[in-house]
Amino acid sequence: MPKIELTDGSPVPTDGSHKEIDPRTGQQKGYIVLSPEERAKGFVKPVRRSYTHNKCGGVTTVGRALAETYARDPYFYSGTFCCNCGTHFPLAQFDWEDGEPMDTSLQEEWQRTEGERRRKARHAALQNRVAQLRSDLEQAERELASESEDASHE
Ligand SMILES: [Zn+2]
Repeated sequence: MPKIELTDGSPVPTDGSHKEIDPRTGQQKGYIVLSPEERAKGFVKPVRRSYTHNKCGGVTTVGRALAETYARDPYFYSGTFCCNCGTHFPLAQFDWEDGEPMDTSLQEEWQRTEGERRRKARHAALQNRVAQLRSDLEQAERELASESEDASHE
């Protein structure tokens, strides 16, 4: 089993007392993360620090240990905290800052359609660039033609 600890590096309490909710913040007293050695074994996802709660639009930023735990093992958590709502919800209600759903069961489909979205955006950007260059070229040719005309009248 991978080694785990709390975000402050302390051991996970066997009595589960870290899960108690702090009434001032709505957050747990402590959150479990993978140990630094475990995270150092390599990420399977980018390290993302922020996510959006789709129900309220609020953005929450997490600490490095938590972000790296998601990157090392996207299946590690089943829910997360929304700073705006002040409580926890299932991952299905959240998207990462790059748009990928936090719910792992939705990620494959998102990756597939995101690839298509990016290809289309790249294609549209290239078309715009070609149109712009064509217009610039025509403009330059008109200027050149008018200068040549002026020169022939001298
Ligand atoms: Zn929220």
